[in-house]
Amino acid sequence: MAENGPSITGPLDRFSRQYDKHVDCPWCGSANSKISSPFGGTVSEILFTCSDCGETFGWMKWEHKRGHKLSEKGGEK
Ligand SMILES: [Zn+2]
Repeated sequence: MAENGPSITGPLDRFSRQYDKHVDCPWCGSANSKISSPFGGTVSEILFTCSDCGETFGWMKWEHKRGHKLSEKGGEK
């Protein structure tokens, strides 16, 4: 009971511990990335911010170390 430590950590804390600096930035290739939101467009997506280039990208948990570009413009489909 008297475990002295954070009793409840939110998903952001948990994911940060697990995934910070784990995913390569798709923009500049740096691994200096950090979670900005534990959930992106879907629950399986995590949003990262690159500490080097400052860009944001989404990463699917099952994609291992590959990020994918969020603001890919090529909008014409
Ligand atoms: Zn970057």
